[in-house]
Amino acid sequence: MSPERRYDALVVGAGPAGLAAATTLARAGRSVAVFDEQPTPGGQVHRAVAAVPESRRALLGPDYARGREAVEAFLASGAHHIGQASVWSAAPGRVGVTVGGVAHLVEGDAVVLATGAYERPFPIPGWTLPGVLSGGGAQTLLKASGLVPEGRTVIAGSGPLVWLLAWQYLRCGLTVDAILDSTPAGNRWRAAPHLAGFLASPYPVKGLELLRAVRRSVRVVRGVSALEAVGEDRVSALRYRVGAGAWVEMGVDTLLLHQGVVPAIELAASAGIRQRWDRDQLCWHPEVDAMGRTPLAGLYLAGDGTGIAGAEAAALSGELAAHAILGTSEGGRVSGLLAQRARWLRGRRFLDLLYQPAPAFRVPAGETLACRCEEVTARALGEAAALGVPGPNQLKAFLRCGMGPCQGRLCGLTVTEALAHHSGRTPAQVGRYRARVPVKPLPLAALAAMPATDDERRAVER
Ligand SMILES: Cc1cc2nc3c(=O)[nH]c(=O)nc-3n(C[C@H](O)[C@H](O)[C@H](O)COP(=O)(O)OP(=O)(O)OC[C@H]3O[C@@H](n4cnc5c(N)ncnc54)[C@H](O)[C@@H]3O)c2cc1C
Repeated sequence: MSPERRYDALVVGAGPAGLAAATTLARAGRSVAVFDEQPTPGGQVHRAVAAVPESRRALLGPDYARGREAVEAFLASGAHHIGQASVWSAAPGRVGVTVGGVAHLVEGDAVVLATGAYERPFPIPGWTLPGVLSGGGAQTLLKASGLVPEGRTVIAGSGPLVWLLAWQYLRCGLTVDAILDSTPAGNRWRAAPHLAGFLASPYPVKGLELLRAVRRSVRVVRGVSALEAVGEDRVSALRYRVGAGAWVEMGVDTLLLHQGVVPAIELAASAGIRQRWDRDQLCWHPEVDAMGRTPLAGLYLAGDGTGIAGAEAAALSGELAAHAILGTSEGGRVSGLLAQRARWLRGRRFLDLLYQPAPAFRVPAGETLACRCEEVTARALGEAAALGVPGPNQLKAFLRCGMGPCQGRLCGLTVTEALAHHSGRTPAQVGRYRARVPVKPLPLAALAAMPATDDERRAVER
């Protein structure tokens, strides 16, 4: 479906946050367009939830299946869903988007960016070998296409998604040969002061049973402090150490790596929203208030793109952003939403500190690739830092890192943290890659086909 020229509100992202914002706005009588790269609504957590067979929905678990209600409410609300739409620019009043090979500039009085999260890089030796995937990538294949790995499968890393993926695989009848848990033991003590908030939040109900079920069926190796994937044309083994112990080698056909997710900030940053370094989540957070308002009038943010808080908090923040747009008075429904969201956020702080990935897995060394697109090694980053490179943007001129097709999404945090490490500065002092429009690849043919006048628009839409 091609977008119309103008709507009351434009929403980027059809995950829990974007769907809640759009449904609330459409129910209030606003014309709304929701753009998403995925063909069907649901976002990362509920990817393809209304499109997959019932049997797969059931295997993926109740939290996944529940997403169908939000998708159905959204589809019934009258909001327009424009799938397979890649949004490459956003500003108050307007987004730039490519749909079906044609670029469009679409206008809207309010713009909500609900772009969600992507996985934190996990740069270890051998992470580019075929057979090594990210845990989220593997879960995407499972949700969208029902694909599971064959042969010996190991999941390594830390964070809730490690356990959720193992649990989903077990329900599909798969054997997970091991979980190599790289959560540093000291994290427990740092997280402990926030245990009360966690216990008072709805998180324990969600997670504890799942953890127990996985531990009953899968061998879990705790305290993994070093990890390598080994192989010639593809991964055939992995090597790991526990603490300062000896290296252990085990054969493997598929190695799945995951160490948390981080906000997708590129659209917000390219629009001029300031980002600050979050020391608990170890990533950038955009400047936004509890209602999703940004310093730019008419531009709102919601969901994990503002800081990782999970699907439920994302949906609440999407609804809050809609109320900010509608001008709903604070109190009543709005204060209820704020209170519910605060409960999720309190629980989250414990998880953030508990699952904070170890420095050794965030700042690679030696010949490990930091930037996969331009094949820049960790050693090269260190050498450039020794020459006095001030930050990631200057580093591009030295090494081209961050200039490949992923536009720095995959190596951005690694580069910031590596430069900070080598130069004795904080990530906040080092800074990040500047996000520039277009933030997603935009074919020249699509740009050339962009209708500029009404006549051209009619010709393209016909
Ligand atoms: C790979 C992955 C898998 C995850 N799986 C789970 C899970 O199973 N369970 C769980 O509890 N949490 C999961 N999470 C965490 C989860 O993303 C969030 O907690 C929750 O989905 C946040 O909702 P959201 O609406 O903020 O964003 P999301 O659900 O991430 O939705 C954001 C949407 O925005 C779209 N988008 C982003 N940028 C653009 C753009 N420029 N143009 C067009 N569309 C764009 C994306 O395609 C996506 O559909 C996962 C995260 C990742 C990265």
